[in-house]
Amino acid sequence: ISLEETLLDAIRTIPDYPKPGIKFRDITTLLGNARAFRRAVDELVHPYAGTKIDKIAGIEARGFILGGAIAHQLSAGFIPIRKKGKLPHETVRVAYSLEYGIDEMEMHRDAVAPGEKVMLVDDLIATGGTAEGATKLLRQMGADIVAACFVIDLPELGGRSKLETLDVPVRTLISYD
Ligand code: 5GP
Repeated sequence: ISLEETLLDAIRTIPDYPKPGIKFRDITTLLGNARAFRRAVDELVHPYAGTKIDKIAGIEARGFILGGAIAHQLSAGFIPIRKKGKLPHETVRVAYSLEYGIDEMEMHRDAVAPGEKVMLVDDLIATGGTAEGATKLLRQMGADIVAACFVIDLPELGGRSKLETLDVPVRTLISYD
């Protein structure tokens, strides 16, 4: 059974969540499926085996789950990128665009040292606004972003192209129209 089939079978689609007309791609069923979870993590990391990556930056909250597993596999550290007000020490903050309006995300100032090689991780890329915000935070602290990895791409929303315009190489495993 192909990677694509394994992942498509394991991801659940919830119609009209969080609002009417939206099809939410629910990865909790993928996380609960040992084989599919392992496969997703293995496939995201395999091109980077042997590449020096210092840290994985995971975006709250689903990026923490995938990012923690990836950090372990690559023997890298982990950086949480969180919604504002959640981190206890000195932070850098950035505003980023959501579908309707803006929000802010933060990272600890000392989470990354200049020149460190960082991989950004989240479950899904749509418009790319969230990943763009995370890219700004990491680069503000001097990180060298070697890749951004997502299980799911929604290519029609343009996130992958947006990140590539910022010179961030993107890896995704499956896409939905
Ligand atoms: P973007 O900023 O690229 O437009 O949206 C991506 C962010 O929204 C990610 O943090 C992702 O977790 C979340 N997101 C948006 N739509 C979905 C969805 O259908 N399923 C999941 N699992 N996350 C979504």
